[in-house]
Amino acid sequence: MTYTPVPTDPALAPVRINLLSDTQTRPTPAMRAAMADAPVGDEQIGDDPTVNALCARVAGLLGKEAAVFMPSGTMCNVAATLVHCRPGDEILAHPTAHLISREGGAHAALGGFQVTAVPGADGQFTPAAFKAALHPRNRYEPPQTLVSVEQTANIGGGTIWPKTALDEIVAIARDHRMATHMDGARLLNACVATGISAPEMSEGWDSVWLDFTKGLGAPLGAAMAGSRDFIDEVWRWKQRLGGSMRQAGTSAAGCLYSLDHHVERLKDDHTNARVLAGGLAQIEGMVVQQPQTNLVFFDPAGTGVTGAAMVAALRQRGVLLATMDGRIRACTHLDVSAAMIEETLGLVRDIVRAA
Ligand SMILES: *Cc1c(COP(=O)(O)O)cnc(C)c1O
Repeated sequence: MTYTPVPTDPALAPVRINLLSDTQTRPTPAMRAAMADAPVGDEQIGDDPTVNALCARVAGLLGKEAAVFMPSGTMCNVAATLVHCRPGDEILAHPTAHLISREGGAHAALGGFQVTAVPGADGQFTPAAFKAALHPRNRYEPPQTLVSVEQTANIGGGTIWPKTALDEIVAIARDHRMATHMDGARLLNACVATGISAPEMSEGWDSVWLDFTKGLGAPLGAAMAGSRDFIDEVWRWKQRLGGSMRQAGTSAAGCLYSLDHHVERLKDDHTNARVLAGGLAQIEGMVVQQPQTNLVFFDPAGTGVTGAAMVAALRQRGVLLATMDGRIRACTHLDVSAAMIEETLGLVRDIVRAA
């Protein structure tokens, strides 16, 4: 995975349109007010009422027995594998998975796990490819104890795993005595886009988590759900990793606010992404992946402007985005309006014309 460094030269025009990531959202005034007013306690001893309310809400939302508030999505992935696997175990995931490329090698460093990449198009592997990657338990090969998917698949283009594929993967994993983990950083984008509820989408998955700091627009926090026993074990790792918190209710209040006010509007992000992709696709030579949710991947090389040159030229004009694996990723979110999409399209057309 290669990323263009994000230009941070202070001489550059201020960023007016931030398409870099849905993590770039700022808490709204109403969200800040909800955070300021939140009742709080000591989260580490289970005594923060707002965190407890959030955990109950997320467990219900995802249709699981229990949930735990975590500082980040990365810590959800790390704690999940630490609970599901033993040293020497093998985790199966797509080569572009966040847990392979973006977690500092945590799963090897902390768990002693090896992650085997199961390839496939658009950030997803087929049930058949998954099955083909499995071997019977034997003395020689590592025990394959966990399969992980991203819903939606980030580097895959924000694509949505079909529910039928998810169900088949769960069934295959069960037959193979493997646990199942869903990285749901953008799960609600998939739910809003398809109309499939979160409990249905994650049905049969042993662990699933939501990130509040992506399209939901909260400043901090993720929550992971599963069986009561699983969540008890996650709590032990959360403590070991230093992730237990104190008056975390202030943050949890932002997350609750986001569930109340920022879920249905993810549709707007998806519309903006489609408009952006449609406009880009009209530019001759531009290669655009049709978005399913809020991520738009495109490659301008065929227009005569390289991805890196396009990123730099847009940044000059106050638009921030970056390349990932040679393509540009533009991300729509709470702080990106339809007018900003139109303006960005105009700027891209100007840059291509000038080249
Ligand atoms: C952002 C992201 C994560 C990590 O979440 P953080 O809250 O940033 O730690 C994990 N998986 C996917 C697919 C993501 O997009």
